[in-house]
Amino acid sequence: MQAQYDYLIVGSGLYGAIFAHEMKKRGRSVVVLERRNHIGGNIYCETKDGIPIHRYGAHIFHTSDEKVWTYVNQFVTFNHFINSPVANYKGTIYNLPFNMNTFAKMWNIRYPEEAKAIIEKQRSELTGEPKNLEEQAIRLVGRDIYERLIKGYTEKQWGRSCTDLPAFIIKRLPVRYTYDNNYFNDTYQGIPEEGYTVLIERLLEGVEVRLGVDFLTDKEEYKQMAKTLVYTGSIDAYFDYALGQLDYRGLRFETECLDKDNYQGVAVMNFTEREVPYTRIIEHKHFVFGRQPVTYITREFPAAWKRGEEAYYPVNDAKNQALYARYKALADKEAHVIFGGRLGEYKYYDMDKVIESALGAVERESRR
Ligand code: UDP
Repeated sequence: MQAQYDYLIVGSGLYGAIFAHEMKKRGRSVVVLERRNHIGGNIYCETKDGIPIHRYGAHIFHTSDEKVWTYVNQFVTFNHFINSPVANYKGTIYNLPFNMNTFAKMWNIRYPEEAKAIIEKQRSELTGEPKNLEEQAIRLVGRDIYERLIKGYTEKQWGRSCTDLPAFIIKRLPVRYTYDNNYFNDTYQGIPEEGYTVLIERLLEGVEVRLGVDFLTDKEEYKQMAKTLVYTGSIDAYFDYALGQLDYRGLRFETECLDKDNYQGVAVMNFTEREVPYTRIIEHKHFVFGRQPVTYITREFPAAWKRGEEAYYPVNDAKNQALYARYKALADKEAHVIFGGRLGEYKYYDMDKVIESALGAVERESRR
């Protein structure tokens, strides 16, 4: 069969949509196959009562890369949302990320030197290179913060003990000795005013998208459609789990509409004790400063992941990284196939990094 398109793109998430957009712009022919019945992958938002609901978990855009920021702003207008989540530990509220507001509430202190002295004393219980997340957390912020704000949340989130988790996960979180509740350190931050689906729609304008088509059910046949395949699904699924299964973490969401204008006063409230089964409640309207008389909230329950379900987080521990490296070696041998995105590259990517990765692939392809 004669390849009909230059590129067959599997998955209409951020990676696939950017790749499709850029190649179309360069005069190449592209087609996108999407297994679900909507575009956008896990950044998909569904608007209800004028409020974009983040259907697959909250997404807050942040980057320090001016190129990436300019890039996304071509398509949609971002608002000035700054993520300042709060932690609810057994009914007491602490500010996140760990900063002077958190320390003041925790120890009834006021000044950075007081906080530093307490944390220094607590972290000195450990010496040497942190071997796991628990040790890394204690080295970063001491035992009090670890026990109230990290341990329960993290163990729920990942479904295993902090002594069994890699240290790098917690390195995502800033620690500051200033009264600054901005969760991110990046230069640019915001949420598309109309939600993320509009961003994907604009990227895919004029692109042929086939919804409800599962590429993996007939991989060889679909591959014939184009000269090059761009695959953004799980890399182990692509190879039919030939080397074994990579681990992912799943999520379950419970969303409800409340007949009030403001439920929790903040977009993200983390529940950091182990006993509450969900990790956080998202109140979507606060992402876009909504003023509607109703509000939508979503409880986020971490869940074991089983084959066939949506995968949310790769579990990048040593065992899985080693298996991924073997899949990557297979992937490198696949002629005319590009693996991209959180699942295709098995990386705990933020959105800006996905964009960088997609634009990098576009550039490499354009040089060919
Ligand atoms: N974390 C925590 N307490 C919190 C929030 C985060 O211990 O209140 C830890 C937890 O281990 C989590 C990691 O920090 O897996 C990264 O959190 P982030 O909010 O970046 O995760 P995401 O939004 O990607 O789920």
